Amino acid sequence: MADINGATIIARSLKAQGVEFIFGIGGFPVIPIPFAAQAEGIRYIGMRNEQAASYAAAAVGYLTGRPGACLVVSGPGVVHGIAGMANAWSNCWPMILLGGSCSTYQEGMGAFQEAPQLETAQVYAKYAARPDRLDRLPFYVEQAVRTSIQGRPGAVYLDLPDDIIAGSIDEDAVKWMPPCPDPQRPEADPADVSRAIDVLRKAERPLVIVGKGAAYSRAEAEVRSFIDATQIPFLPTPMGKGVMPDDHPLSVAPGRSFALQNADVVLTLGARLNWILHFGLPPRFHEDVKVIQVDIHGEEIGTNVPAEVGLVGDARAVIAQLSAAIRSEPITVAADTPWRKELGIKIEENQLAVQAMMDDDSAPMGYYRVLREIHDLSPRDSIICAEGANTMDISRTVLHNYEARHRLDAGTFGTMGVGLGQAIAAAVVHPDKKVVCVEGDSAFGFSGMEVETACRYRLPITFVVINNNGIGQGYEDLGDDPANSPPLAYTIDARYERVIEGFGGKGYCVRTPDELGSVLKEALADPMPNVVNVLIDPKASRKPQKFTWLTQ
Ligand code: ADP
Ligand code: MG
Repeated sequence: MADINGATIIARSLKAQGVEFIFGIGGFPVIPIPFAAQAEGIRYIGMRNEQAASYAAAAVGYLTGRPGACLVVSGPGVVHGIAGMANAWSNCWPMILLGGSCSTYQEGMGAFQEAPQLETAQVYAKYAARPDRLDRLPFYVEQAVRTSIQGRPGAVYLDLPDDIIAGSIDEDAVKWMPPCPDPQRPEADPADVSRAIDVLRKAERPLVIVGKGAAYSRAEAEVRSFIDATQIPFLPTPMGKGVMPDDHPLSVAPGRSFALQNADVVLTLGARLNWILHFGLPPRFHEDVKVIQVDIHGEEIGTNVPAEVGLVGDARAVIAQLSAAIRSEPITVAADTPWRKELGIKIEENQLAVQAMMDDDSAPMGYYRVLREIHDLSPRDSIICAEGANTMDISRTVLHNYEARHRLDAGTFGTMGVGLGQAIAAAVVHPDKKVVCVEGDSAFGFSGMEVETACRYRLPITFVVINNNGIGQGYEDLGDDPANSPPLAYTIDARYERVIEGFGGKGYCVRTPDELGSVLKEALADPMPNVVNVLIDPKASRKPQKFTWLTQ
């Protein structure tokens, strides 16, 4: 048999384990890997920023259920790639970071870009290893991929020495591994299912919280039939949006605070009671709330609030168990119950409070008017990426999702800078769909150069920059002393749209609702990526909130 090199063994093993996408930046010592990957039929996306590449890889894991890979050079490359690992760790998404490293025979000698890469990656990794033999490379790749998707998904790391990537052996000597199957879908203990049904049956004010764990487990059909059957009101978390369509009559998203404060039984489906859900504690939750928690990760049950019932298992499987358990004796929360009526009143009240801002046609616009236009004009199955402070928060209520796994944002880690990488990931995974990437001007700046990547691969992404000249609050001027420019301000009326013009995409700058409407129609129909820079009112802000965003 002929000789085969390390790069080809790595690429062939990744392909065999169902890794279809690699995002990276080539350089010593990983240069042979993207060439081998393309030869093996893996889609390689050459990016401009290693962090953005790592965020893209993690998003692929969430969107497809198989880890996306991120390929980076040794030393600084690995440090940058760990950004995405940390984001994946926090979001519970599978991804695989492939980091180049110095040759095994130079370890400890102060080699080029030598660093404690394995130790650094380990903190965020479910699995981290440094193969030192070519014949066992398939073993390591299989271990890494399987670990990333089994149980609670997460990030894994492979440290790839130069002499392993560039070395070669007789192909017959390679110990190939069969593909690891998709993860099992464990069911919850039937006794726990019965207890959960008892608790739900006695509830007067039940609420289902749909999290991104339910989205990840592809539980949408099961969740929809459970909620339609029981008529229990539901609240999606930011990325749980779309598992149930946002325009479903049982969505209490517009009455979120009221629903959380008053529910007596909360059924969480793949959603942690962390900061995003205010730890499940008063004053945001009722002090006597009973929590029924569905999670694949047994250790999660009882975090912050002792669970009344813990249902440890795969969300899709467990919801099907719940549905089966009430088939003979249904649970139904009728529309005329006080709970549903109170929720209805609260929702109407809150919707009225923002309607004026949504309908305000004056220029410059505020967030609500801009986002309403995007909502009105985007295709129903668009994938929405959103990041920024107000831009992301308000987008959560104004931009609707109708399908599962169609929203990507800063997530559990609150990572700014994920937007462009995640949008690129969504566009390569779903070439048939429109990706609308809504960015604050600050968020866009973290990896704005990725518009070049989008143009090079002709990904039809519309990037909308909601530009208020700064981080969080807006700025109207920078003052007279450039040396003491306001710390949170950026260039006033910056023309971000011009960046994409250098790479063949179209840029638009708009200030009025009319301009925005006609430009968006053109931009959304464009098969090339484009940037719509919306100069908004720097004084624009959110609807006044009863609680501050961060529970303290
Ligand atoms: P959100 O931000 O939407 O509230 P979180 O990231 O906090 O969601 O929680 C997602 C939860 O989903 C995690 O605790 C994770 O263990 C869990 N999870 C992941 N995969 C599955 C699955 N297949 N079935 C059930 N739960 C899952
Ligand atoms: Mg801003």
